Formats: sequence, C-alpha cells, structure tokens
Amino acid sequence: MSQLKLVQHLKSSRAIQTKRIETVMTFVDRRFFLPQDSSVSVHVYEDRPLPIGLEQTISAPHMHAHTLELLQDRIKLGSKILDVGSGSGYLVSCFALLTGPTGFVVGIEKMRELAERSVQSIKRANPELALPPTQSTSPSLPGCSLEGSGLNWQVWYGNALDEEALGCFGEEFDAIHVGAAAESIPPNLCRILARGGKMVLPVGRRWDSQTLVLVEKDEKGKRHSSDLMGVIYVPLTPPEEED
Ligand code: SAH
Repeated sequence: MSQLKLVQHLKSSRAIQTKRIETVMTFVDRRFFLPQDSSVSVHVYEDRPLPIGLEQTISAPHMHAHTLELLQDRIKLGSKILDVGSGSGYLVSCFALLTGPTGFVVGIEKMRELAERSVQSIKRANPELALPPTQSTSPSLPGCSLEGSGLNWQVWYGNALDEEALGCFGEEFDAIHVGAAAESIPPNLCRILARGGKMVLPVGRRWDSQTLVLVEKDEKGKRHSSDLMGVIYVPLTPPEEED
C-alpha cells in the first residue's frame, strides 16, 4: 500500500469527492504522522485509526477525508482555520496547504508530547510548511504554550475548553474542526466561529454513541446545527480533568 493507493480507496468509497481534497491528501503522507518507532506502521495506509501514544489515536483516513470535504467550501486561500485536539498534526498540514501562505491555521492539543511531536511531523511531511511564518505577530493564548510554527500555522499546547485559552479570538475562524467528542457543543468554540463559518465536531457521551455535527453560523450570527453520522471519538476533556 501507499498514500496514493489509500487516496484511491477513499475516492472509490466516496469519502473523497473533490479534486482539491484528493490532491491535498495525496501530498500529506500519513506515514510521517505516526511515532517513528511505531509497531503499527505496517498498517499506516489502512483506513483505520491507529495509536499515536499516550492513549490517543490518529483518526481513520476516511474521517480526515469527510472532515475536509465538509469544510472545504470554507477553506480557501487566506482562510483562518482552527483544529481542536490536533493530535498527530495530520489535518493541520492539510489545512495549511489548502489555505496557502496568506491563510492561518491554529492547532491546539492538550498533550504536550503530542503537540511537540506533531510540529516535527508537519515539517517532515511537508517541508514547504517549515518555512518561517509569513505573519510576524502571534496571538498570546493564556495558559497555553506555542510548541512550534511554520509558514502559516501554529501548534499550541493547551486545553481548548479552558475559557481563557481561546478567548483572545473573536468571530475569526472560517472553519473549526474538533477531533474529540464533546458532551455538548462548546459555547467558547461557537463564539470564535466567523459569521458564514462552519464547525464540524463529534458530540455525545464518552465511549457511547456519538454524532458528527455540522454547526453553521449565518451572516447574522445565528447558528444552525445538523446531525451527519454516527461516530466514535476519544473524549474532549475539560481542563479540570487530570490526564
Ligand atoms: N485529528 C487528530 C485526532 C487526534 S485524537 C488526528 O487525526 O491526529 C484527539 C486529540 O484531542 C487527542 O490527541 C487529545 O489529546 C486531544 N484533546 C482531547 N481533549 C482536548 C481538549 N480539551 N483540548 C485540546 N485537545 C484535546
């Protein structure tokens, strides 16, 4: 198997539907996002989640594809994207390639080791993203630390449910992806979704049936949400919970 064959499989199963997403997933090779000594690397091009250490997983490729397809009309050159629970960094790379040098992608991950490792993975997988940042200013996120950055992206260590952490952002993000399941739609994430923006997140009880939900904010700031499909994700844990 290879990344190319995996992408062909995702096309034939209709997880990938557009040329843009086919291209970006071909360019972001999943093998760079597994720990280097991983015992599961023989399965890297199979369409299933795989452990990345610290009891966390890289999502199945078809979930990466669905996410990118669902958000793709909000991911343009220059768009601003937030990836909550960025884990391996796979989607940060995809978002950064899709939004180009004028875009801005923020990943936030609550496990420092994963955040650190994802920075290296993104740079190894797509060396063009390792170029120095085009914008010199960087937000300061209370209670978080910047683990690394490149051309148009940053990965932060911090808890996205911490009210203060993302509080410095206004209605700024054209697209938000949440890679872990919340018990209900987090209000702090709704607040920072731009008007006309889209958020995709799994919602439901821990290790129970969960639903992938699409939240759209219209131009007047009103939210509409729709249930898309049943899913199983690791929990989105609040700051007060110890790891
Ligand atoms: N899309 C990622 C999914 C990683 S699994 C990938 O494919 O690699 C989900 C991640 O969410 C885990 O790494 C977990 O540590 C992180 N996470 C869970 N709750 C969080 C929170 N409140 N804030 C930030 N990250 C969180």
